[in-house]
Amino acid sequence: MVKILEQRVQSQARLSYAESRRNPAKRNLKSQTSNFKLLDSLSPSQRHNNMAAIHSKNTKPELIVRRYLFAHGFRFRLNDPRLPGHPDIVMRKYATCIFVNGCFWHGHDGCPAYRIPKTNTEFWQNKISRNKARDSRTIQQLTALGWNCITVWECQLKPALREDTLASLQQTLLQIYLHKTQPKLPAAPYNLDEELPLRQAAEPQTPN
Ligand SMILES: [Zn+2]
Repeated sequence: MVKILEQRVQSQARLSYAESRRNPAKRNLKSQTSNFKLLDSLSPSQRHNNMAAIHSKNTKPELIVRRYLFAHGFRFRLNDPRLPGHPDIVMRKYATCIFVNGCFWHGHDGCPAYRIPKTNTEFWQNKISRNKARDSRTIQQLTALGWNCITVWECQLKPALREDTLASLQQTLLQIYLHKTQPKLPAAPYNLDEELPLRQAAEPQTPN
């Protein structure tokens, strides 16, 4: 066990050395940091929270959506802790929360990527249905607070579908914005007298 740890320390040290060569600016900082600090200093529960955070943030599909939105001029917050479910992307101007969901973890119905494993089937079924229940509860809560919720599924971001998915996401956001900013005018009453002879602005041209 000690031997394995030593090997880990050595390979970590090699890695950080290689990194410091690539980033000379960080070299001094790196050399001050003891290599032993790279070893796990977190308790199991801290490690669990840490891994859960890593697992849920900055996933590749999420980055694809964020980069696209940013490049198209949209601005947003990430994982706002004040909102139910800490939505992945929060766009206040558009009153919209976007969730970028992994098809397996969030149980994308009818999706080939969502297949319950053949071992521990019951465990996975329970886990995924708990996730699905939580997702729909979150969306209900956000909707009640006046937020629009959009879910982008991982499978919709595969290279073949990505462009269409992102374009329609943009379209949806613009529609939401238009709807949100349109002044609420009272409907004009239609009580004009049809019998009244009205002068036309221009007579239709008839050939003589
Ligand atoms: Zn899917």
